[in-house]
Amino acid sequence: MPELAEVETVARGLRPLVGRTITAVRFGKTDFIDQPELLRALLPESRIGEVRRYGKLLAIGFARRRLDPERFWLLVHLGMTGQLVIQDSGLPAARHTHVWLGLEDGRELRYTDIRRFGRMQIVSAEGLAARVALLGADPLELGIAEFRQRLGTRRARVKALLLDQRVLRGLGNIYADESLWRARLHPMRSGSELSGTELVRLWRAIRTVVREAIRRGGTSVANYVDALGRRGTYQKRLRVYRRAGLACLRCGAKIGRIVVAGRTSHFCPRCQPRRAAIAPRRGNRNHHGKTDIPTPLLR
Ligand SMILES: [Zn+2]
Repeated sequence: MPELAEVETVARGLRPLVGRTITAVRFGKTDFIDQPELLRALLPESRIGEVRRYGKLLAIGFARRRLDPERFWLLVHLGMTGQLVIQDSGLPAARHTHVWLGLEDGRELRYTDIRRFGRMQIVSAEGLAARVALLGADPLELGIAEFRQRLGTRRARVKALLLDQRVLRGLGNIYADESLWRARLHPMRSGSELSGTELVRLWRAIRTVVREAIRRGGTSVANYVDALGRRGTYQKRLRVYRRAGLACLRCGAKIGRIVVAGRTSHFCPRCQPRRAAIAPRRGNRNHHGKTDIPTPLLR
């Protein structure tokens, strides 16, 4: 499922279309579009003014006329398998393409979605603001103080908090698991039991993971592609996601899998202990000079 890094990559790929005018609109199936007749009425002759991303949501700003701009936004959520790709109109469309937006330069912006869990709708500026107000903070924009306030005061499990779009916007299963592994935190720990140091570790881990994923054009574990139809490469950098049964790349223990907040979570039972790690004390070291790990933590 496209998350922050994938949607950001798509948004960057769409920005060169700013200034272009839509000439025609064509649909296949429309069950994932709110009021398709509104798209049909408003999009032709409209000019793309801006492309924004709010979490996993793409917002494409349009102006109706050059002089008396009537502004509106096309919101696109890629759902599970949505793809928004700029293609030459002469090229055959991929199967499951359901929206064609013709551009005046002969290219098309095509929306393809095998499962049709994506969503598309037109909203006003006020509608966009109302929608964004429901979302939490962008993990790349918020500072540690706000992060601590948003997560450290909550009893919910940290994995659930990371996935909750009202707490942070844009993270999904992949980057939540990768960030928790990097921060060495068990997904079932509660937000309020995390120490100040652990919260800083998590805040840093999310930023590092997501920024690196954006640099690599996102993660293509399923059918995700960018606005030019290219796959991302961050799947080669995954440390824990979908690696259950394989050796942890940090400590060699077998990566485990549990369900938290209804989602499969991948974690290392040794580097991400269920309980807070106790600072090693003198005399607690074994003959290899390594700290003993209490057996309950290995479960
Ligand atoms: Zn490990």
